[in-house]
Amino acid sequence: MGKILDGKAFANELGQNLKEKVNNLKKEGITPHFCVINIGDNPASKIYVRTKKRRADKMGIIQDIYQLSADTKQEEALTLIDKLNADPEINGVMVQLPAPKQIDADELLERIDPNKDVDGLTPINVGHLWMGDHFVEPATAEGIIALLKHYEIPLAGKKAVVIGRSNIVGKPMAALLLEENATVTICHLYTENLAEITKQADIIVSATGQAFLVTADMVKDGAVVVDVGMNHVDGKLVGDVDFDSVKEKASYITPVPGGVGPLTVQFLMEAVVKLTRRQHDRE
Ligand code: NAD
Repeated sequence: MGKILDGKAFANELGQNLKEKVNNLKKEGITPHFCVINIGDNPASKIYVRTKKRRADKMGIIQDIYQLSADTKQEEALTLIDKLNADPEINGVMVQLPAPKQIDADELLERIDPNKDVDGLTPINVGHLWMGDHFVEPATAEGIIALLKHYEIPLAGKKAVVIGRSNIVGKPMAALLLEENATVTICHLYTENLAEITKQADIIVSATGQAFLVTADMVKDGAVVVDVGMNHVDGKLVGDVDFDSVKEKASYITPVPGGVGPLTVQFLMEAVVKLTRRQHDRE
């Protein structure tokens, strides 16, 4: 049976260090401060925003929540981003996605000052990421790389398969695995013979939002399986991976909950502190 990659425990360990970093900054009169803009009433988004707020409070970071109504106009959201970009007290700005239909989310992301882009999703930072010269990274992918390194799982030369190609998870995950010298394949909804590809993988990262997509017959013995998915089935939170069967074949596997989720929140906080330090020349 595979060993559990305990994201929650690792996130808590990192949290202790980060709290100390924040305390040291506070002694210098600097308190990391970031803003989350949430537009509309998506229930999951509201939960994510609150989860971040709890973590920020725990870390000693200030998190402001700008809750905008579902009928917010593009210009209003852009004006708010401009205001936060210009405010020297604010170290980070992010837009909680998804946004309502009338909103062009890409335009909002593009408007965020790349130096305050705690999610690493502005085109400039995405470019830096793929060039291998980045100062901020999307939290989920960054957290997964850190988790794999924490468990001393070798990445160089390994065959990694990322399922999902979103800007927020799949693509940055592929970029960071590539940077670690893995041989990376990106699969998605149009991929034919997914199982044939995943069966070759030493490392599988699934980020699709399809419950139980990855089954034991798709995984080779000894593979490392990272489950990013967060799906609600019969009132229960489950991942993309059929955990009970896949854990028998995997050498390491992340659980859901308690795997990638806590790391994503922790690495967002790490990004806030990293950008705060950078803005104050404390690199
Ligand atoms: P998304 O909907 O933007 O992208 C999903 C991707 O999966 C797409 O690229 C699509 O092509 C691919 N896909 C969908 N069905 C597929 C299938 N049957 N076979 C192969 N590929 C398929 O989603 P996202 O924002 O990348 O999030 C993915 C999942 O990860 C969701 O469940 C989301 O809730 C979760 N998530 C978790 C965390 C975390 O911290 N654990 C963070 C972000 C997202």
